[in-house]
Amino acid sequence: MSNTQDLILLSGEYSSSIVVLSVIIACCASYTALSLNQRIQQNSFFHNYFWLALSSIAMGLGIWSMHFVGMSALALPISMEYDPILTAISALPAILASFLAFYIANRANRNHLPYLLAGITMGIGISSMHYIGMAAMKMESEYIYNPWVFLLSIFIAIVVSYVALFIFSNSKKFMGNQYIKVITSIIMGLGISSMHYTGMMAVDFYVEKSVDIHTHTFHQMDMTLLITVVSIGIFILLLISALTSLLDRYVDYRLHHFDALTLLPNQRQFEASINNNTNRSGSLAIFQLHNLENLISAHGYTVGDEIIRAIRDIIHSQKPSSATLYRIEANRFALLTLEESTNEKVKEALENILSLLKKPIIVEENSIPVHVVCSVDYLSGEKDVKELFTNTMAVLQHPSIARQHKVIEYDPSIHTYSFERQILQDINRAMTNHELFIAYQPKVCSKSMNVTGLEALLRWKHPEQGMISPGIFIPVLEDNGKIFDVTDWVIQEVFKQISIWNKQSIPMYQVSINIPGAYVTSPRLLHVISEKLSEYSVNSHMIELEITETSVIHDIENAISAVEKLRGMGLSVALDDFGTGLSSLSYLKRIPISTIKIDKSFVDDVPLSEKDSDVLRAIITLCHSLHLKVVIEGVETKEQMNFITSVSEALHIQGYYFSRPLIEKELITWYRER
Ligand code: C2E
Ligand code: CA
Ligand code: CA
Repeated sequence: MSNTQDLILLSGEYSSSIVVLSVIIACCASYTALSLNQRIQQNSFFHNYFWLALSSIAMGLGIWSMHFVGMSALALPISMEYDPILTAISALPAILASFLAFYIANRANRNHLPYLLAGITMGIGISSMHYIGMAAMKMESEYIYNPWVFLLSIFIAIVVSYVALFIFSNSKKFMGNQYIKVITSIIMGLGISSMHYTGMMAVDFYVEKSVDIHTHTFHQMDMTLLITVVSIGIFILLLISALTSLLDRYVDYRLHHFDALTLLPNQRQFEASINNNTNRSGSLAIFQLHNLENLISAHGYTVGDEIIRAIRDIIHSQKPSSATLYRIEANRFALLTLEESTNEKVKEALENILSLLKKPIIVEENSIPVHVVCSVDYLSGEKDVKELFTNTMAVLQHPSIARQHKVIEYDPSIHTYSFERQILQDINRAMTNHELFIAYQPKVCSKSMNVTGLEALLRWKHPEQGMISPGIFIPVLEDNGKIFDVTDWVIQEVFKQISIWNKQSIPMYQVSINIPGAYVTSPRLLHVISEKLSEYSVNSHMIELEITETSVIHDIENAISAVEKLRGMGLSVALDDFGTGLSSLSYLKRIPISTIKIDKSFVDDVPLSEKDSDVLRAIITLCHSLHLKVVIEGVETKEQMNFITSVSEALHIQGYYFSRPLIEKELITWYRER
């Protein structure tokens, strides 16, 4: 640099309106940066770093534009230009420092040290930006820094950044409060600007004496281009941040109000719609998929997802158009209809849905059977929508719905806790008072048409409730540890009956007794059976025990040894409801059963459904190949009977086609009439 004596000090002039503009820019940028920064604290769809980066860019560019707009406020009597590359580069330290400073401040707790560190980082960033920006100026003059004022400007930048970051971070909990954000932004903006203008005070511009400054008019730097670029840049930045915030809020809304898998409204929306409703007519149905966990453990989550989507599609295809479908739990859908006089439509739709769901769902060439129960309740009288929900849930919580695949309408006399309690209270009395009794349903050979056996089915004629179906009360007893006693009672009654028939010399057939889940593997069962066999002098060949797949599958090793012992005593053992569970026959084959009972659901659509007919034929063939006695349950029509006899002759048929379950007297009459 030339000697100062050969230089003339230039005095500049500031345009106050542009100065004000530069301060406003700094404040706006701070505000944008703080708003974006805030989203880091909120649960956001985007990663924290996304917001951190965006807010640093906003802050950095803000500082940068403030600087250049500030520079353009200064008019000097010489011409000035900017080096575009350095100009662009000068934005980097500001962006980088903002990033680091926000990063540190976001992690800081009440401790001052991190804020100080963040403040220093920010301050240095602002200053570096400023001085690189200054270096980007190309002009005829030279400039000299006053070191003290220069240091002061850096000091101001650090202190203000520290104060602003501290206020900002520690008022997070009040950040909903716009004032704090605005005040912090103003402090920050003023900090940046004061650093700039103090920095400008630190420089003196000189020209060599040889330059005739009087020929120069005052130059506002030719900044039209720069200002335009800066304005457009800031505008785009604001737009981007506004849009991303909007997008973020939208994503947030979708995530919280819709189910990601089915895209249906979720339990939150469901809750809102039942809570805010005062309709007096309408209905609520809840579909529950019973075996989702088993399906997932057998086939994996992807298949589980496909099944859920397939169920959604089926419900969607049949539901009345005014009904809204929600996915309210992993395995539950709710169908809410709030319209006058749609009950009949709803009823029909629900039946259609469940009959479609009876068909296995095809996923990746696997054919997967699902069990879906639907509970429904209708608005009437004083009932409100919330009550509908309580009621339909009561249905689903009732023990009797386990594994059911049908539409069950809420019945206040059944689906209540008090009903369960009454059953448990009354069951002992029922056994001694002859409220409980046994009905026998014959099984007939498909070839000879001779009776080959009977199934003992429990009946309860309750003095207040009337006839209660075993499908309702047995699950309640099972859930409450009462079923063992009742099974013993059934065993005793059956043995007693056989011994009476023996005494009366009535020729009788093997009688099947249903043995519930946990009882199969209990030593008590063996004990009771052998005791009763000798007490009533009944031949063990006269007895068959029916066990279900679900009851043995949990404890297969013990089930195998229990069944072996029973078979060893000469009893038959049948696998009931075959095909309704998930296990494969090859697995069940390990249990030494003698008989297999093919579930009614395989017969229902035969012979009309070609597919079902093929499936039934295949199952029968499979059972024959294992040399098992085969019983087909639930045969009701001539057509079903014809189809079955066309498949095989060595079958036993049980169903209304031959007879309903009969009490002893009716059975004798039925038998004599044949
Ligand atoms: P399950 O063992 O599968 O009994 C067959 C059920 O199907 C009986 O219902 C019978 O009446 C019914 N059924 C038979 N043929 C036909 C037909 O052609 N069409 C139709 N629609 N149904 C037919 P029930 O008597 O109501 O018994 C229901 C369930 O309750 C039984 O299913 C069984 O799981 C249980 N249960 C009945 N009695 C006893 C018992 O003494 N002990 C135990 N643990 N469970 C029993
Ligand atoms: Ca049975
Ligand atoms: Ca059965």
